[in-house]
Amino acid sequence: MTGPRGPVVAIDGPASSGKSTVGALAAARLGLRFCDTGLFYRAAAWLALQRGVAPDDGPTLAALVPELRLEPDAAGRYLRVRAAGREITGLVHDPSIERIVSEVSRQPEVRAALLPRQRELAASGGIVVAGRDIGTVVLPDADIKIYLDATLAERARRRGLERGVPDDGSSAAAEERIVAELRARDALDSSRAAAPLRVAPDAVVIRTDGFTLEQAVEAVVAAVESKVGAGPFPQVP
Ligand code: C5P
Repeated sequence: MTGPRGPVVAIDGPASSGKSTVGALAAARLGLRFCDTGLFYRAAAWLALQRGVAPDDGPTLAALVPELRLEPDAAGRYLRVRAAGREITGLVHDPSIERIVSEVSRQPEVRAALLPRQRELAASGGIVVAGRDIGTVVLPDADIKIYLDATLAERARRRGLERGVPDDGSSAAAEERIVAELRARDALDSSRAAAPLRVAPDAVVIRTDGFTLEQAVEAVVAAVESKVGAGPFPQVP
């Protein structure tokens, strides 16, 4: 489904597998735009909390979707999100959102409302799109599909470092909480009826345990280039 701007790259994987950090850096190396679709679901969860909408009320949640906007930076990276006109990127990784986002995202009405929004972003090509169901449902004709994976322990370690929890065993309770949160989100995301987290049959699986960030980026760039040719791809406005 290469568009005028170049190839479409789908990256899926479980929570904290590095999709958004690795995906954004790989996109920059390849001269492609980047979209983190998890921001849509997180923003929907944020707006639901603001409006007092229950996280399992699919029809009311879906009606909030037109109020969500992903905003590109100068390099075409969709890493910022607005809801009801307010910039909320800094608020959507809060534990209060993590607790309900998988419930929100399992509502078929929410997924249906977000589907065209995500496809629209990829329609002109030249983009890396990260999420849970990009290669399986949103962009099944992507030029290359990558499934980024890491063990639960490794993902929890990374998530803990992001939250300032040392990885030397000194904060066992905080570490256990993070493992439990990730396990719960993985279970919900993989078991839901609508667009569950799955490895697409034609995906390249990259396991990043023991990789530095740079090595993970390199592995993604190499997988893309071996399938669609060497970047960087021309930037088309
Ligand atoms: O990727 P991130 O952890 O930010 O995603 C937050 C949540 O949004 C996921 O746990 C999942 O429930 C949902 N999500 C989804 N489909 C996507 C992207 C995210 O269901 N394509």
